Amino acid sequence: MAVFAHPDDETFGSGGTLARYAAQGCRVVLVTATKGEAGEIQDPSMRADEPIMEIRQRELKCACEVLGIEGPVYLGYRDSGMRGTPDNDHPSSFHRADLDEAAGKVVSAMRQYRPQVVITFEPGGGYGHPDHIKAHHVTARAFRAAGDPACYPEQGLAPWQPSKLYYTALPRRMFRAMAERMRQEGTDAGGQPFDAEKMGMPDELITTEIDVSAVLDKKVEAFHCHRSQLSPHGVIARLSTESMSEFMRTEYFWRAIPEVSHPNVERDLFDGI
Ligand SMILES: [Zn+2]
Repeated sequence: MAVFAHPDDETFGSGGTLARYAAQGCRVVLVTATKGEAGEIQDPSMRADEPIMEIRQRELKCACEVLGIEGPVYLGYRDSGMRGTPDNDHPSSFHRADLDEAAGKVVSAMRQYRPQVVITFEPGGGYGHPDHIKAHHVTARAFRAAGDPACYPEQGLAPWQPSKLYYTALPRRMFRAMAERMRQEGTDAGGQPFDAEKMGMPDELITTEIDVSAVLDKKVEAFHCHRSQLSPHGVIARLSTESMSEFMRTEYFWRAIPEVSHPNVERDLFDGI
């Protein structure tokens, strides 16, 4: 089970991993907190003659089909937008949602789907988006509550304790390598600033590397499902296709539960299960 905040988080963060396990016959389900209501169309060639949430729901459905996963199960909150924007204060925003109530919704999904492995954002939410951070806290709380019969008994669902909790976490070394490649390809000027030293997680936090080469085509196709969110000035558009596929071949995680006590890099989310 993957729990994320917006349509596209699943693909950009762990699309290859979700597709890989689905292709191996695992039942993979996506839980998405919001419908991306506060997002903006990044692709200027797209017309916006319908609400953004309609576009993004359609894009997410497309991505789930391409990745071969179930869902999305929506939690029903509203996208809170970037930090400091008025959308943060909307009464239905995920940012403002009661933590116990939101965790209860994820617990309900965990008790129904009974996942062995759960994936969500790391505590910083990747780049600090308030909904990403909220998804982290809500999922971590749900992970600890789902197996406890004293929590949310009113749901009438049997408790279920997932075995492993992972956070998506991009290592800083990957951003450094991307910055270096942009310099080599002469595409580092213009567009959004790209400071590798301010991006990603410290390398030593990464516990798990998943090779998604076998499903790279599906991951790329799922990226294109989220057309409204692909900026022609973004990192993806600025690197050559060959370089981008090289960086997309591996997905990185930080295993939170059970805690990692050995220094070896894990290469399968289901190790030990
Ligand atoms: Zn997001």
